[in-house]
Amino acid sequence: MIFQDPMTSLNPYLRVSRQMTEVLTLHKGTGQREARAEAIRMLDAVHIPDAASRIDRYPHEFSGGMRQRVMIAMSLLCRPRLIIADEPTTALDVTVQSQILMLLDEIRREFGTAVILITHDLGVVAEVCDKVLVMYGGRVMESGVLDDIFRRNRHPYTRGLLASVPRLDKSGGGRLQGIPGTPPSVRRPPPGCPFEARCPVREDRCAEQPPTLREAGEGHEVACYVEMEK
Ligand code: SF4
Repeated sequence: MIFQDPMTSLNPYLRVSRQMTEVLTLHKGTGQREARAEAIRMLDAVHIPDAASRIDRYPHEFSGGMRQRVMIAMSLLCRPRLIIADEPTTALDVTVQSQILMLLDEIRREFGTAVILITHDLGVVAEVCDKVLVMYGGRVMESGVLDDIFRRNRHPYTRGLLASVPRLDKSGGGRLQGIPGTPPSVRRPPPGCPFEARCPVREDRCAEQPPTLREAGEGHEVACYVEMEK
């Protein structure tokens, strides 16, 4: 797992070497010397310069981007088949954000690791994802490959989300569109479709029970009672 803010997920009191080797000694019973060598190899793999000496630094001695690289290296130590990255670039500036996304892509290819990326940034989705699940109120609203979501979307929430993204390629300015209302409580979810209170095309039945996912094309699914125009 890779968390949003590496400063709060790394222990500020412990050197990076201790935090990384502990993963291997606890999960795999690896000896200290071997664990240290493997940790240095992983820091090298995520392009931390001079990994052999930097491994003994504390988290605050790294920049934000480098700390996130340490987190990625740490997540790779047990050679997982799947990494869950929860908003991994939110705490970083745009240039570093793009470096970290490129690194995740490189890791995915080199280590054969699948990545589930949780993000609210549709630009990031468009850049790095193969398959997308649009979630709302804890449920999947629409899923498909990139083009299903960005070009062939059929769900009112997906359309609202995309319409609310500022576009530099649209001339004339104009007001940014929002989705009126607020999200439902996840502790006390509504009985019907979670998007019902904000949906511009809702019908009476939408408030009764949540729609199930139906096929809208090959590998493309939508949870909505209404057939939206293509
Ligand atoms: S099921 Fe109804 S409320 Fe939910 S997104 Fe579709 S039309 Fe809107």
